[in-house]
Amino acid sequence: MRFRVKSAGYNRARDLAKIKPKVGLILRESENTIYSDSCLLQPEERRKPHAWGKRNWFQLGVFLATIGIGLQFIIYVHQAAGNGVVTVLRPPGVEGFLPIGALMGWKLFVQTGIWDPIHPAAMVFLGFAGFISLALRKSFCGWFCPVGTLSEWLWKLGRSLFGKNYKLPIWLDFPLRGLKYLLLGFFVKIIFSMSSPDILGFLQSPYYKISDVKMLHFFTQMTTLAVVVLTVLVLSSLFIRNVWCRYLCPYGALMGLLALCSPTRIQRNPDTCIGCKSCSQACPYYLPVDRKRYIISPECNGCMECTRVCPVENTLELKTTRTGKIRWNTARLGIIIIGIYIGMVYIAGITGHWKSSVTENEFHARLQTINSPEITHPKVRFK
Ligand code: SF4
Ligand code: SF4
Repeated sequence: MRFRVKSAGYNRARDLAKIKPKVGLILRESENTIYSDSCLLQPEERRKPHAWGKRNWFQLGVFLATIGIGLQFIIYVHQAAGNGVVTVLRPPGVEGFLPIGALMGWKLFVQTGIWDPIHPAAMVFLGFAGFISLALRKSFCGWFCPVGTLSEWLWKLGRSLFGKNYKLPIWLDFPLRGLKYLLLGFFVKIIFSMSSPDILGFLQSPYYKISDVKMLHFFTQMTTLAVVVLTVLVLSSLFIRNVWCRYLCPYGALMGLLALCSPTRIQRNPDTCIGCKSCSQACPYYLPVDRKRYIISPECNGCMECTRVCPVENTLELKTTRTGKIRWNTARLGIIIIGIYIGMVYIAGITGHWKSSVTENEFHARLQTINSPEITHPKVRFK
């Protein structure tokens, strides 16, 4: 089989001496291109930097499922609020959008062993996101999160429309990246200063029982400020890669901190690396993959774009443990992630940790009074 190495950054005079000993027999050369029959090289079709890969199909599937769950919830709330016949079930999946409550729930669970009965699925989602990010390099952000997917689509759209994305200068980029940790610290400080009875009181408040509808109303009844903020975010995401994820998302900040402890990381073999820089150019987070032996940055989300474009086989890989006993390819990673998700939801379902204890009747009654003073955010007391 004949393979081809092609790199935009390839310079014959500079790089050929470096490449030749590593790729074996070179059959033919032309501008920017080396043809070789060496088994070290990957077929070019696997390396197109802008190609739609397996991970993108995975993201699309999760995104469409999220839209489906959202539509089901909208129909359910509409029917329940109108006192009409309710023909759809209330989908627990919407609770994935209640991360603050989930964090409170996990603190309560660790301290008292009580599993939040109001929005239990929120805790399952946070547990799932944390587990795969810890085990598999912040892969929740790179594979599962629909907001991350939307963010990625926006900068790719911007690149198609304007020919490129813009990178902020380091003096601005670096402090802005700290914003998401500040936001995370703010929420963590509030939650960790609450006592267990206060958390329990919050989780059982009328507000929290219907907080998923409040969250829905945030999108369906947007304030002018929310419209302005979202518009700025969308427009800036066309020009700058992953504005929300890179600078503002506290959920991603938490996943990144967990990923710092991950035994899984991108590993580069400097002995076979030909220094073409394709990996760094493909990395959505501008990580210096071509210069590092291991990528341990909290920004790396296991998207595998760098490994996909690397022209030399077995040079850049996602591996678990430094000795690289477990190697991940894109398909295996996707199967494991969806397998863990289905397994966790299934176990939560059969053990009674998935469905809310709020009855249909109570939910319908709360919907009728959703704008009353009783359904306002409870004031929390700090220790
Ligand atoms: S280093 Fe590789 S896996 Fe990590 S974010 Fe960059 S391209 Fe994705
Ligand atoms: S690791 Fe990066 S620089 Fe080295 S060969 Fe692969 S893509 Fe090129």
